[in-house]
Amino acid sequence: MEQVGTDHGGITFSKVRKEYPDGTVAVGDLDLVVNPGEILCLVGPSGCGKSTTLRMVNRLIEPTSGSITVDGQDVMAAQAVELRRSIGYVIQHVGLFPHKTVAQNVATVPQLVKWPKERIGARVDELLTLVGLEPELYGPRFPHELSGGQRQRVGVARALAVEPPVMLMDEPFGAVDPQGRRRLQREFMDLQRQLGLTVMMVTHDMREAVLMADRIAVLSTGGVLEQLASPEEIVDNPANDFVADFLADFDGLARNA
Ligand code: ADP
Repeated sequence: MEQVGTDHGGITFSKVRKEYPDGTVAVGDLDLVVNPGEILCLVGPSGCGKSTTLRMVNRLIEPTSGSITVDGQDVMAAQAVELRRSIGYVIQHVGLFPHKTVAQNVATVPQLVKWPKERIGARVDELLTLVGLEPELYGPRFPHELSGGQRQRVGVARALAVEPPVMLMDEPFGAVDPQGRRRLQREFMDLQRQLGLTVMMVTHDMREAVLMADRIAVLSTGGVLEQLASPEEIVDNPANDFVADFLADFDGLARNA
């Protein structure tokens, strides 16, 4: 695979603000860098601006001001549709097309960008294998013939289809049962390391963040960055009362719990 062993582009937020038309300031003035090849988790209480921050990267939401670059490129200078196709995006209810097979779902973007048929077929097989689904067995199935965890795997495979340097993930394992979730988390971490992917991930689950993240960004209402540090640093040395209180809601935090 072309991606193995290389680290891809980072994400830089400079003075990014999002004010919705009703006057809600979801994100006030955010400066944040996601380093190439790292998993950065955004955590914080409901409504603090996590999803808004994530979705501004692929312009599902347009920033009011400030700038965001991916791999050094200003996202506002890109064509929104092309930008979205070039960045992996995985959400909680993965949004597979119910009337398409697993293989057809994974092939969606390669077909849109008109890859030759043989290349698409080879890529679909490669991706399903990568996420632990045997292509001959699962490729012809429909989404309703899969478990929740298997559907999330297909979602990850689909997001990886055109070899994105960057993956955005919004509660990607939230709909999976706790046991399956833990396995998916670990397998995804292996995959991320193997591919050198840059991942920005929203989770409301501090345990998930501590397990998976290289660095955690703790946000408070208005997208205010309260602390940006490694999981160990945040758990051992919360920067302020807000971070300490947020952590207190999760008993017994430990990286390998
Ligand atoms: P989180 O992902 O942390 O739960 P969001 O980014 O979804 O938070 O939302 C941040 C804030 O922006 C919240 O106060 C939310 O109510 C508000 N918000 C989100 N979308 C809209 C919208 N389309 N119009 C107005 N306010 C919105």
